Amino acid sequence: MSRRRRVYEGKAKVLYEGPEPGTLVQHFKDDTTAFDATKRAIIEGKGVLNNRISEFIFTKLNEIGVPTHFIRALNMREQLIREVEIIPVEVVVRNVAAGSLSKKLGIDEGTVLPRSIIEFYYKNDELHDPMVSEEHITAFGWATPQEIDDMMALALRINDFLTGLFLGIGIRLVDFKVEFGRLYEGEMVRVVLADEISPDCCRLWDTRTNDKLDKDRFRRDMGGLVEAYQEVARRLGVLVDTEPKRRGPTLVK
Ligand code: UDP
Repeated sequence: MSRRRRVYEGKAKVLYEGPEPGTLVQHFKDDTTAFDATKRAIIEGKGVLNNRISEFIFTKLNEIGVPTHFIRALNMREQLIREVEIIPVEVVVRNVAAGSLSKKLGIDEGTVLPRSIIEFYYKNDELHDPMVSEEHITAFGWATPQEIDDMMALALRINDFLTGLFLGIGIRLVDFKVEFGRLYEGEMVRVVLADEISPDCCRLWDTRTNDKLDKDRFRRDMGGLVEAYQEVARRLGVLVDTEPKRRGPTLVK
């Protein structure tokens, strides 16, 4: 038996060489970080929940024609993905004011935005992921104008899909962050959704109680992070242990 090769280790995930060329295994760790990893903890079970939630969402996105890196689930913590070249831009979509937007612009948390707003951040830990404009992205060659258009169009489709999915299970999608990659297929290259979509990178508020069901519980020392992620997984119908008979969202009336 040989040990599989680790291709990349990030804050919350590890990428291993996949079984075939052009594939990778994405492994979700329990490590939890915030504020540029100055705040850290290991929260047991978080990786399993994020893997399950992200796998469910990526499967659905693939089904509605949003191209993603996701191929298939492997086990509790791992999924098989296509190897892509990550575009070094984080794309944030906001529906409701919260977090850095509220802080920077003085808009009360919870204010519904007049329309969904897209923001770009340059992926660079040393620089603390600064917010950048399309001008910066094209001038410095991080992405082409066409790739920016593709990322924006996909981000809005993902937002529409996720807003509806979560609303159906009593959760408000306040904002989220996604990352995209370039998938090379022979002569062709296209932009696909990469990374993950989980409560680590979304703000999810219970529509009835406004309870936070996301990583803000960790950032703000509120506790109950795993319980909150479990609740999201349970409502999405992906906690197979507790609901052996069915998979899929449970509609909240
Ligand atoms: N986000 C993320 N990774 C980052 C920065 C932000 O996943 O490095 C997510 C965050 O969870 C939230 C959204 O992007 O859902 C908007 O985050 P914001 O700009 O408000 O920053 P924060 O307040 O989290 O520092």
